[in-house]
Amino acid sequence: MEQNITQRTIEIIKKYDFVFQKKFGQNFLIDQRVLDKIIAAADIGPDDCVLEIGPGIGTLTRCLAEAAGQVIAVEIDKNLIPILGDVLSEYHNITVINEDILKVDIQALVDEKNGGRPIKVVANLPYYITTPIIMGLFESNVPIDNITVMVQKEVADRMQVGPGTKDYGALSLAVQYYAEPYIVANVPQNCFIPRPNVGSAVIRLTRHKEKPVTVKNEQHMFRLVRAAFNQRRKTLQNALHNMAELNLSKEQVVNALKEMGLSETIRGEKLTLEDFARLSDLLSE
Ligand code: SAM
Repeated sequence: MEQNITQRTIEIIKKYDFVFQKKFGQNFLIDQRVLDKIIAAADIGPDDCVLEIGPGIGTLTRCLAEAAGQVIAVEIDKNLIPILGDVLSEYHNITVINEDILKVDIQALVDEKNGGRPIKVVANLPYYITTPIIMGLFESNVPIDNITVMVQKEVADRMQVGPGTKDYGALSLAVQYYAEPYIVANVPQNCFIPRPNVGSAVIRLTRHKEKPVTVKNEQHMFRLVRAAFNQRRKTLQNALHNMAELNLSKEQVVNALKEMGLSETIRGEKLTLEDFARLSDLLSE
């Protein structure tokens, strides 16, 4: 029988005298069922090229290498690179890159390793940079089929919810503009070494083939979204007017809201993605 992952993790940590770095969000997965769920949810087959962010000591990487055609694993911690070299030595379809994922030219990697065809992204993410990683992947327009990642439970909830709930905000709208979110599993703290202070969840973001709304100026729409949720207790007309860079009078906002059949005292948290797209088109004219 295969060695238990917890024992294996503890052995590797001891053998290499590995010291966990809190600043890199290092919480290693030690639960086989969770690993299986991630691989199944990402829907990985032998034709797939997978980008893994933060392989750690390679636990998820090994599962990925067995299911996928090839795996590119980007790890920031230089102390993990020799360990990965050792523990993954039997696999010939893994490339480990010692880099900060936020600085890697992912498009160049996709071109080089997968001939520009869409990749799948899988990770137990370092939670301190979840949003920049996900938004960077979407906004860069790198060809991606789906992103299946472990994130903080609250963040998974925020990505998935719709208008009128307390978790709804700029992240919900940004994620849902690019992808269809689906929470695959909630994952308790005891599935990691060391235990994180927060609950976790695996979420799959399936990239839309076509955007769910059309908007003339995407950036303008997201400026409105950020302004609306920066001051989420304020009415939308006040929140947008208060954001100097938008240069909008209250009257302009009220007129646009009227044209959309919405109350002039409405708050941003009630607006759908379609509403923000329409409002942006009206206000950028
Ligand atoms: N995949 C491993 C697992 O599931 O056991 C480790 C996951 S751990 C939550 C996050 C990993 O991301 C760590 O190995 C950490 O060193 C790495 N990491 C943190 N910041 C990073 C960055 N900016 N770029 C690449 N890797 C990073």
